[in-house]
Amino acid sequence: MYELEIIGVFSAAHRLRDYHGKCEHLHGHNYRVHVAVRAASTGTGGIVIDFSDLKSASSRVLDRLDHTFLNEIEPFDEIEPSAENIAAFLFSEIARELNDRAGLLYSVSVWESDTSRATFFR
Ligand SMILES: [Zn+2]
Repeated sequence: MYELEIIGVFSAAHRLRDYHGKCEHLHGHNYRVHVAVRAASTGTGGIVIDFSDLKSASSRVLDRLDHTFLNEIEPFDEIEPSAENIAAFLFSEIARELNDRAGLLYSVSVWESDTSRATFFR
């Protein structure tokens, strides 16, 4: 089994509505996002997916969130902009960007800080 991973970043503000603690107040994060694909074998040329294709598919999604107030953006205007929900959202949106290669996508991890991450995987 092969696993390939790229790392993306975006900066955004959020506040958790249904939460009591530091994150209920408006604040920002420099999010780090790890996007991983897995495959049992490589395709032509000995690669699973071109890293640049994976990076550009991920960037198209992350750019939509960069420098925003997440609570004002779909779907986070209705669901909590938690690291867990952001990871699940990114997974489905990046899968959509990968089109016919969506099945390769394995996991999306969202790091809110250097020591805290949430991962969504299939
Ligand atoms: Zn936060």
